[in-house]
Amino acid sequence: MTGNEIRESFLKFFEKKGHKILPSASLIPLSDPSILWTAAGMVPFKPYFTGAAKSEFPRVTTCQKCIRTPDIESVGKTARHHTFFEMLGNFSFGDYFKENAIPWAWEYVTDILGLPADKLWITVYQDDDEAFDTWRRVVGVPAGRIVRMGKDTNFWEIGVGPCGPCSEIYVDLGAERGCGSPECAVGCDCDRYIEIWNLVFIQYFRDEEGNYSPLDSKGIDTGMGLERVASVLQNVPTNFETDLLREIMDFSAGLFGLKYGSDSKVDLALKVIADHCRAITFAVADGALPSNEGRGYVIRRLLRRAVRFGRLLGMQGLFLNQVASAVIRQMGAAYQELTEKQEHVLKVIQAEEERFGETLAQGTEMLNQIIAGLKKSGGSVVPGADAFKLYDTYGFPLELTQEMAAEQGLAVDSGGFGAAMDEQRQRARNARQETEYISERDAFFKDLRGQLGETVFVGYDLLEARAE
Ligand code: ATP
Ligand code: MG
Ligand code: MG
Ligand code: MG
Repeated sequence: MTGNEIRESFLKFFEKKGHKILPSASLIPLSDPSILWTAAGMVPFKPYFTGAAKSEFPRVTTCQKCIRTPDIESVGKTARHHTFFEMLGNFSFGDYFKENAIPWAWEYVTDILGLPADKLWITVYQDDDEAFDTWRRVVGVPAGRIVRMGKDTNFWEIGVGPCGPCSEIYVDLGAERGCGSPECAVGCDCDRYIEIWNLVFIQYFRDEEGNYSPLDSKGIDTGMGLERVASVLQNVPTNFETDLLREIMDFSAGLFGLKYGSDSKVDLALKVIADHCRAITFAVADGALPSNEGRGYVIRRLLRRAVRFGRLLGMQGLFLNQVASAVIRQMGAAYQELTEKQEHVLKVIQAEEERFGETLAQGTEMLNQIIAGLKKSGGSVVPGADAFKLYDTYGFPLELTQEMAAEQGLAVDSGGFGAAMDEQRQRARNARQETEYISERDAFFKDLRGQLGETVFVGYDLLEARAE
């Protein structure tokens, strides 16, 4: 099955089970100013789970665009992490619960996707006997392949509010994909057991004191990574070889005059570029713009990181806008906003790439000198003031400096960086106050002149001027 076919089949499957198919919401969460990005399918539906609003439809299914920046370092290193990915999900707002969500998930992965049942593993929250029994008795999964796990992985909560236990579906890809450790099992961070689907059973309310009370209106929130499922079905080593990403990878390899799959360093760079470029393209199409703060800083950081990986592959000129065109060609049919906003997206990407391209070489040169100096003197930490200069003069996001330093076995004094940043903000504030003072003063005199009319200076001739 192609990525498009999986997306389609998922939505159709749940439509047949009475769900309303809704389009993906924006990557910029409109209903929640406290978060930067839509990071899961449930984000647009949060008000329905908290009870702040009521959904027109009790059952909904979506394929949601997601951005997860905390996973940035894993991109290309694990087989399964992106900063941008698509999450398939089915939701119940006070309607069905575990008794349906679990068997339907099983039906979809075994009947529709055709995954072999004996390769599937299930995790449940340690105290969730109800979920365990549904998997065991209703679905018939052998007890030995249902693993009870702790709160860190199998309980979903964010502060005060609705929350509940999770149950995940893993696929065992075989020992040859694993880390080889005798402890390797479900939940291991290597690529053998891949988590494809997470079912969240929203059944408690957590109050300020941390007490959990059962909810009257229970809910279901599930999330399945489209690229991961595609990688399993298409039997490829990582998400990047699926039809969803492969063309973007091959296109950029072509731009660099390289071939994907011949050198692991090259492959890592190509993966990072393809991943970050997808994230930037989708985010800009949804209205985000590069800047030094919040969401804009994330775009800037992703873009500059991608450009730097391009330089590592020997690319001196602009290339990201071309990769972005490939992203739009690949994804434009499923996400019309990409085609509609194409011109704007490419313009924004090119402008930011040009801006950074001008200073990247000089900044790299400066950092190399700092690093050489440190190595000579036996130091191991790039001073915060230097990291700040790289940021301020050459547009190096702190994280980029940290990564480049780490490649040489060095750390960066991020506290010192923060202090230098604060100092500069204070200076800017003072300067602003000064300008405000000057313009206030000027306005005062202008005003006075308006009231008094033209005045003539007579002090050269008279010691005291009297109004006539
Ligand atoms: P993992 O443990 O592999 O990092 P997760 O437990 O953080 O995944 P969830 O928050 O449960 O993931 O999200 C639901 C589903 O979304 C996952 O089961 C997976 O299929 C997919 N997913 C999560 N994070 C990513 C990512 N960074 N890139 C691609 N798919 C992802
Ligand atoms: Mg994760
Ligand atoms: Mg997980
Ligand atoms: Mg999970």
